[in-house]
Amino acid sequence: MKEKEIADRRNFLKGSMAGAAGLVVASTTSVALGAESGKKQKPALATDGNVTNKVDVLVVGGGTAGTIAAIQSGRAGAKTLLMERNSQLGGTTTTGGVSFPGLFDAWGKQVIAGIGWELVRESVELDGGKLPDFSKVPDRHWKNQVRVNQFLYAILAEEKCDQAGVQIAYYEFPQSIAKTTAGWQVDCVGFGTSRRVLCKQIIDCTGGAEVVGMLSMPRLRGEETQPGSMLFKLDKANNPGRPNGPGSGLLDSLYIHGADSTNSRTVTAANLTGRKAVLKKVRATKKRLMHLQPEAGFRESYRILGETVITEGDYTSGRVFEDAVCYAFYPVDVHKGTGFAALEYLERGIVPTIPLRALIPKGSRNLMVAGRCVSSDRYANGGLRVQASCMAMGQAAGVAAALAAVRGTTPLELPLSEIHKLLREHGAIVPA
Ligand SMILES: Cc1cc2nc3c(=O)[nH]c(=O)nc-3n(C[C@H](O)[C@H](O)[C@H](O)COP(=O)(O)OP(=O)(O)OC[C@H]3O[C@@H](n4cnc5c(N)ncnc54)[C@H](O)[C@@H]3O)c2cc1C
Repeated sequence: MKEKEIADRRNFLKGSMAGAAGLVVASTTSVALGAESGKKQKPALATDGNVTNKVDVLVVGGGTAGTIAAIQSGRAGAKTLLMERNSQLGGTTTTGGVSFPGLFDAWGKQVIAGIGWELVRESVELDGGKLPDFSKVPDRHWKNQVRVNQFLYAILAEEKCDQAGVQIAYYEFPQSIAKTTAGWQVDCVGFGTSRRVLCKQIIDCTGGAEVVGMLSMPRLRGEETQPGSMLFKLDKANNPGRPNGPGSGLLDSLYIHGADSTNSRTVTAANLTGRKAVLKKVRATKKRLMHLQPEAGFRESYRILGETVITEGDYTSGRVFEDAVCYAFYPVDVHKGTGFAALEYLERGIVPTIPLRALIPKGSRNLMVAGRCVSSDRYANGGLRVQASCMAMGQAAGVAAALAAVRGTTPLELPLSEIHKLLREHGAIVPA
């Protein structure tokens, strides 16, 4: 979208932050320009990095779902800030190395499109790769996962954010969150910087619903969680976006039992364990280490307790929720300690849906989630957690948050028809 178009849309959203009165906004960014101005250079203070942003929508977590949520929110005309604790966009798709998103199709037709699909398709096209033929039902579900070049994907995601007017803040994360009369005040930190974000809506796309946890709202988690994985390549160079050898084209991977994405200590522990296991493998096989992802991939942590909880029965029966905002499609896939769980395949013709209420923490206002932390039981989540579904949830949350910011209301009080209309305008497939 062109800059002018975005500016026009913002004008249309007049007064969307007018209610933020009562909070003092002081931008204190300063740069020591002594050398250029000829004056003696002032020493920079630690507080020089402090900034305040007033936005409509804050998306926390620039991973699989969050990137799409932010682009959608920006394209819908909302002033949007995307905060990511790592150094690039894409999350598990890129930093975790799970660069084979699925599934966009079910039973011979595409069921998830929109911004996630646009990004995946353009990554493949730019890379000279191959897209699956969705009109064919493959003998194995994973054959229709799309192999993307994780490096290109991350850069294209940044370009699309830029074009949508989305501001990106890397290496930052929320430290405290308070409700205000106008929405939220989110105090964030990064290295050498701190940022106060005043926003109307928050979309928590952290994977483990960390914002929801900070707000002390209930989250769901079983005693057992699936292992994480460290992805790497021995002997041969990684060939991004292409098959890497026999099987589905995955990188090599090692389970990390107990991997937990909850906080920096648990993520540190998972990374150390994963890398130690890779080192052991190198020593044992005497093969060269040709590729190693910078962070472990996490399959499971917290899910929200939402306005509704998607059950395994809802998922496997293909329940069409009255407030469905997108489809999802994948077998129920819950990894156990020792190896792959037996996959529970969906019966022919079944295509599960995701309701808006599963993206909204129970009893909350002006807060949504998207991604693997969707409100669901453990087994439904085993199917819902895959990337195409996370992207579709991200787009739905981006639309709802942007609309709610414009209307000065909360996503649950929006007419569903307007959410559907805007989603369709932005290329998404909405359950009929
Ligand atoms: C090993 C493995 C294999 C898988 N296989 C498949 C497969 O074959 N096909 C498939 O489609 N899916 C697969 N999945 C599942 C899928 O990749 C994930 O469930 C999905 O990508 C999760 O998306 P998300 O947006 O919820 O989280 P993520 O993509 O993990 O994004 C979360 C983002 O939030 C950031 N973040 C976290 N906390 C904060 C904070 N406090 N502040 C700022 N930023 C924060 C993180 O750095 C990250 O970028 C697999 C997953 C794993 C781990």
